[in-house]
Amino acid sequence: MIKFLDIQKINLQHQQEIEERLLKTFRNGWYLLGEEVKAFEEKLSDYIGCSHAIGVANGLDALRLIFKGYIELGIMQPGDEVIVPANTYIASILSITDNGLIPVFTEPDIDTYNIDFSLIEDKITKKTKAIMVVHLYGQVAYSNLLTELAKKHNLKIIEDNAQSIGANWNGTKTGNLGDAAGLSFYPGKNLGALGDAGAVTTNDDELAKTIRTLANYGSQKKYVNQYKGLNSRLDEIQAAVLSVKLNYLEAENQKRREIAQYYSDNITNREIILPKVNAITSNLKHVWHLFVVRTQNRDKLQKHLSDNGVQTLIHYPTPPYQQEAYTEYSHLSFPITEQIHNEVLSLPISPVLTNEEIKTIVDILNSYTN
Ligand SMILES: *Cc1c(COP(=O)(O)O)cnc(C)c1O
Repeated sequence: MIKFLDIQKINLQHQQEIEERLLKTFRNGWYLLGEEVKAFEEKLSDYIGCSHAIGVANGLDALRLIFKGYIELGIMQPGDEVIVPANTYIASILSITDNGLIPVFTEPDIDTYNIDFSLIEDKITKKTKAIMVVHLYGQVAYSNLLTELAKKHNLKIIEDNAQSIGANWNGTKTGNLGDAAGLSFYPGKNLGALGDAGAVTTNDDELAKTIRTLANYGSQKKYVNQYKGLNSRLDEIQAAVLSVKLNYLEAENQKRREIAQYYSDNITNREIILPKVNAITSNLKHVWHLFVVRTQNRDKLQKHLSDNGVQTLIHYPTPPYQQEAYTEYSHLSFPITEQIHNEVLSLPISPVLTNEEIKTIVDILNSYTN
């Protein structure tokens, strides 16, 4: 069977280095807010090109803490609106609603799966405080129009950069394109930890300080609590692993690009619609967290692949506004979003997929008939 994603194999590529670093951290006896976290934060901010990286417990917390930080700073308040794509993982939406803010769902572009920038301005009201872009599947969601709108209407640009670490727009990396960004190091992400981990990146000194404080019980000084904070810290152990793995991220993303290119060149079945890299954004780099195709009879294609030993996944079967958790939004309808959720299928893609496996997958796809 060809697995959708072989995380064990990905990590075992760096077995010796990771094990040595883990052992060092274990023996060192300091497990939170120590040298490993500091070193990783510096390395990450250097890599992204921004002034601050703050390690936190996971990607959802990274996004939640950004809004919470803006609320503590008086820049946003509960009841304010955040424009967000309707087709995203539920974490993007939870980070908004968890802070008492209102998500304003916006249709994506059917070709890029990312927010349709031309629809944003109509959604802006007096209550709008931010636009959250989600760099979905590894592709940058950015446009000069976005910065123009943010300037004109005094809005913050928040990036959900959980899926796109390493991607860039004209040389500026995701995580450094807006006012603040949330990253996830969930094990299956392009830079994956050995459990949950995340980070916020920003160039805003005040926001960075506030988030760092909020993530540590709202406290800068032990037993002095400035805010009603959270416990959302990055473990030393995870930071140690991430520091090792960050050294290999560029090479691993490059491998993903090569696989994506192979798929694009060789999948010739007309039943299968290949992902498009936005023509206007030809300078961006896509990091192919997922290779997502569309097809009319998605479940049949998925069965054809699994019958032939290829595991695939669906990102995502149901949009957040149709989840039971959000019955208050169940009356909404977004045809493009719904079409995407009904038609998408994610093929295996990872730095450890072999040429033979990729070729097998392509052959199986090309032999599919609807
Ligand atoms: C993974 C993911 C998150 C959340 O990250 P966790 O570390 O799992 O909390 C947020 N947004 C998107 C788009 C993601 O894919």
